[in-house]
Amino acid sequence: MNQATDLGMLIMQRANALARCTETPGMLTRTYLTSAHGDAAALLAQWMREAGMNVRRDAVGNVIGRYDGIAPDAPALLTGSHFDTVRNAGKFDGNLGILLPIACVAEWHRQDRRFPFAIEVIGFAEEEGVRFKATLLGSRALAGTFDMSALDRRDEQGLAMREAMTAAGLDAAALPQAAYRRDRALAYMEVHIEQGPVLLDEDLAIGVVTAISGASRYLVTVTGLAGHAGTVPMGLRRDAAMAAAEIGLHIERRCSGSPGLVGTVGQLDVPNGAANVIPGKAIFTVDIRAETDEVRLAAVHDVLEEMQRIAARRRVTLDVSKTHEVHSVPCAPWLQNQLERAISGDGLPVRRLPSGAGHDAMAMAALTDVAMLFVRCGNGGISHHPDESMTADDARTAARIFSRFVENFAKP
Ligand SMILES: [Zn+2]
Repeated sequence: MNQATDLGMLIMQRANALARCTETPGMLTRTYLTSAHGDAAALLAQWMREAGMNVRRDAVGNVIGRYDGIAPDAPALLTGSHFDTVRNAGKFDGNLGILLPIACVAEWHRQDRRFPFAIEVIGFAEEEGVRFKATLLGSRALAGTFDMSALDRRDEQGLAMREAMTAAGLDAAALPQAAYRRDRALAYMEVHIEQGPVLLDEDLAIGVVTAISGASRYLVTVTGLAGHAGTVPMGLRRDAAMAAAEIGLHIERRCSGSPGLVGTVGQLDVPNGAANVIPGKAIFTVDIRAETDEVRLAAVHDVLEEMQRIAARRRVTLDVSKTHEVHSVPCAPWLQNQLERAISGDGLPVRRLPSGAGHDAMAMAALTDVAMLFVRCGNGGISHHPDESMTADDARTAARIFSRFVENFAKP
């Protein structure tokens, strides 16, 4: 009689093995369609086959394993995440959401257990946007929202995405066929590390994502008047940097205190600044995110208004341009409820939280209802960094919750 595997340990071992597929020895960097990326795809395909799945690779390079339902042509519950990484990445971002369901499917396969629906585990080929500065390529191809003009984007070596695809044996012309048939997808559920400190801070292994936050981003140039730091009295100054500082503090205040709302000035520059010169120019970015679009847009509105008041009072001018905006993607309430039942059925407390970072689920929402299960990170919640960590215990817990969710899954 073969023994049940320790899924926590298996997931950790495979995360380590997968992390050895890297472009840069000594660190993990695995960008779209590099040979390391191809090696990782092959490894995932092998583990999927060993778990009893039929494996296919679509035109964008997604690795898709199908575990048939009781009826072989049953529609599928989709799950997965991305296997590309940022430069000098951690080994769980994305990868966990592929390795975990493969391990769970292997268990069902071992028990010869099938469901009234199929399970498809998707290793998305590209999410981070590192190589071609276009994100979510894998999930957009599957959701049928791939922007074909992205094929002409070039990497730092000048190679177009279309050429890189051909070199990797993929057929860009077949991309439209990578779109999943809407009536064949029951839902999409993604397991992902939290990439933040909330669960760690509250001593919880897992959480249910309520929504993927929308984001607004602005680039602001403040123009004042440069002057000699010694000769211009304080009352006569038009200091661009101090106007930027006051605006930054306002953003911090305005975005504090509402759950799910965050505001960041991530870049703050005084071009050609010098110790003895009053800054005549300052350039900064604003990034505001929230769980709901109402909360985000209200904060953006207030911040833009207050910026103008501060500028008028300080006699500086502003040039404000919007550089990015995405709407919030809510997780489907019926899927959240089923996840919560899986968690409370396991005797664990249910913590709901928004995702401040973007994920494949965002793109998949164009195809079907989506949900996400967050898993606690160690090391203060750091991610996109080699210190990113999680424990085998938490992997085991998340695998148990995922299994319970699937075993009780029913589309209303
Ligand atoms: Zn990720």
